Amino acid sequence: MPAGRHFLQIPGPSNVPDRILRAMDYPTMDHRGPAFAEVGRAALEGAKWVFGTENRVIIYPSSGTGAWEAALVNTLSPGDTVLMYETGHFATLWKKLAERLGLKPVFIEGDWRRGADPDAIAARLKEDEAHEIKAVCVVHNETSTGAVSPIAAIRRAIDAAGHPALFMVDTISGLASIDYRHDEWGVDVTVSGSQKGLMLPPGLSFNAVSEKAVAASKTAGLPKAYWAWDDMMGPNDTGYFPYTPATNLLYGLNEAIAMLREEGLENVFARHTRHGEAARAAVEAWGLEVLCARPEDRSGVLTAVMMPEGHSADRFRAIALENYDISFGNGLSKVADRVFRIGHLGDFNDLMLCGTLAGVEMALSDAGVPHRKGGVQAAMQVLGGGQSALRAAA
Ligand code: PLP
Repeated sequence: MPAGRHFLQIPGPSNVPDRILRAMDYPTMDHRGPAFAEVGRAALEGAKWVFGTENRVIIYPSSGTGAWEAALVNTLSPGDTVLMYETGHFATLWKKLAERLGLKPVFIEGDWRRGADPDAIAARLKEDEAHEIKAVCVVHNETSTGAVSPIAAIRRAIDAAGHPALFMVDTISGLASIDYRHDEWGVDVTVSGSQKGLMLPPGLSFNAVSEKAVAASKTAGLPKAYWAWDDMMGPNDTGYFPYTPATNLLYGLNEAIAMLREEGLENVFARHTRHGEAARAAVEAWGLEVLCARPEDRSGVLTAVMMPEGHSADRFRAIALENYDISFGNGLSKVADRVFRIGHLGDFNDLMLCGTLAGVEMALSDAGVPHRKGGVQAAMQVLGGGQSALRAAA
């Protein structure tokens, strides 16, 4: 093992803070016993606050993919048409999952360099006079590209088209890092996971649900058993689960929520926005290109960096790992070996970002990738400027 702490700078799983590790380091308790109800209730209530909802949040012991499936099987019927948007790799995977469930996705194609376009969604919905589209599914923070989709504007577009489709959003990598508001933005099912902004290990996933989504679940015809919301809701009312919950991850979730409350969600979002800006200042100074083409779509969660022509992103990542014990995210499917991804999410601060960017800059040199020096310096200027602005405002 190399000395010092590994830098886990993939865009999730993110670094788990010691405080959360300690909170999980307790004996597993009887999940049907009296003491558990308090743990379960706190987790279910706290999750509502993080998602910005007064309605229910269903918590599964699964990875995010399970919550994708749960969103669809609880609300839709075999052969239903769903409108999905190709923002990148994860949107494509969700679409493939929908196909395997017997749904009929209409896929609005994208170039993997921007968020979903509300006008394109509105145009497709207006064509659907018979209201065959039963759900609109969008990835909020596309983890493969670092592009954010404008969820509130998409809600407005659905309303302007006068379309009754359910609105489902994957914010697996956006929740608790960048602004998200389930109720205010009129989302029917929000899908998320534990291993990103919530700073937990992988293993919990979530469906935040609206009343409209719960009503749809009463008549939805896709087969469901493990994922059935109905089975969850009764026991959840008293803080319990129908099957064995991931007890120790729930201890961790309660600690994560306490940490987010202490910092304040607004401050958490501001911290991520600022780190995104600093990371992109570094990329610009290196003379490299950010994959997300539209500045207004660029994410505070991660920055995907394009490699100059003829240079392998995977070789660069391997050199970074070997020489500096730092992990960057790989390019996925369409952009495999063409991009690397810098995660700047979760339990993360200015010096961790500087260390991360120093790791990029040194590994670029080691890998012989043409670039200019000064990326870390450029990021420090953004960070320093940010601090003085904060001080001036105080
Ligand atoms: N959606 C997004 C946006 C993701 O980032 C991921 C995982 O990184 C998933 C879905 C799939 O989640 P999981 O790998 O936890 O099943």
